[in-house]
Amino acid sequence: MRETIHNRGKQDRPYFIRKSKNEDFEVLGKETDKYKCKECKTVYNQKEYHIAQNDNFGRARLKTTCKTCYNHDRNIRRHMEKNLPPISLECEAGCGRKPPKHTLYNDHCKKTGKHRGWLCQNCNTGAGHFGDNIEGITRIYNYLKERSFI
Ligand SMILES: [Zn+2]
Ligand SMILES: [Zn+2]
Repeated sequence: MRETIHNRGKQDRPYFIRKSKNEDFEVLGKETDKYKCKECKTVYNQKEYHIAQNDNFGRARLKTTCKTCYNHDRNIRRHMEKNLPPISLECEAGCGRKPPKHTLYNDHCKKTGKHRGWLCQNCNTGAGHFGDNIEGITRIYNYLKERSFI
């Protein structure tokens, strides 16, 4: 990695070598480091996290969810991808955006892993910004309703 003003000194951060079946990875931190899984909130040693992509220095990052949670989610996603309904003609959230100008994405319920509908990027990320649930959308809905002048 070429040293620039943005990464100067950062490649000196401590790392250790983690061996996997096919490859050895340089992982930032120490072998004894523990992290809290974003999903199940359990604290595990770094070994319980899959390797994610490399950072700018060729050092491996770890996934933010533990192996159990990550694998569970991956299985749900794979199962869902095999059982998707045909892509619809326009965004199913009613905004009117259509392919090919707008790509439609497979929106799914994070809890059950079930496909909910085909959404344009705006509607999909928009719902995500408000927590992807009724409570979050109701909060902003109530705010707009109470504070708008018409
Ligand atoms: Zn977990
Ligand atoms: Zn839309």
